[in-house]
Amino acid sequence: MNYLEYKQQVYDTTLSLVDIQLIRLSAGNVSVRLPDGNVAITPSAILYRKMVPDDIVIVDINGNLIEGDKKPSSEKALHTDIYKARPDVNAVVHAHSVYSIAFSTVEMELPLVCVELFSVGGPVPVMGYYCPGTPEVGKVAAEFFATRPRLKSLLMKNHGMVAVGKDLDDAYQNAYKTEIGAEIYHLALQTGKKPQALTEENIQEIMARYQKPQEKK
Ligand SMILES: [Zn+2]
Repeated sequence: MNYLEYKQQVYDTTLSLVDIQLIRLSAGNVSVRLPDGNVAITPSAILYRKMVPDDIVIVDINGNLIEGDKKPSSEKALHTDIYKARPDVNAVVHAHSVYSIAFSTVEMELPLVCVELFSVGGPVPVMGYYCPGTPEVGKVAAEFFATRPRLKSLLMKNHGMVAVGKDLDDAYQNAYKTEIGAEIYHLALQTGKKPQALTEENIQEIMARYQKPQEKK
């Protein structure tokens, strides 16, 4: 199949993440699952501002190179393991975003202090530390997403966060919502008071009002 259109989509999403500073330099990576089951993913160690759409690499679901001159992201197993664990997920964003990393270092999950964190299936948990780029990163992250089917993002201790979505726009928004939720939680904690999470009643009301229209999208 012709991968050009999908390479362009991954390129555009990555640059959009650079624009909002969720991804800086070459730290972080983006992928989309393709109709033929393969995966289009950002290349390893290229400054995204200098990347071109054709630098996006195509790998199969096991991370083997299908097409491309560049080396696929060193976190390709993080992406492919999540696709294997969650058939509803068609795009993955991994970012080294600062507020998410900060909370991961103290192993604090992100409670439901705002609707953004509710919409990513929060409270957003923190997975343990594993050396970046090793198979353990993908294995453990995929287990979190497999056991919590509503979960759309995860903090990675001392490393970053990973967000998933039904398509690239959805994964992009879920990454943003997670980072903005972490920033809001951080700001609230600065008051010295305990931030209050949405109550069960608040959640029921939100679901009654918004869940059906969201599902129709
Ligand atoms: Zn990383």
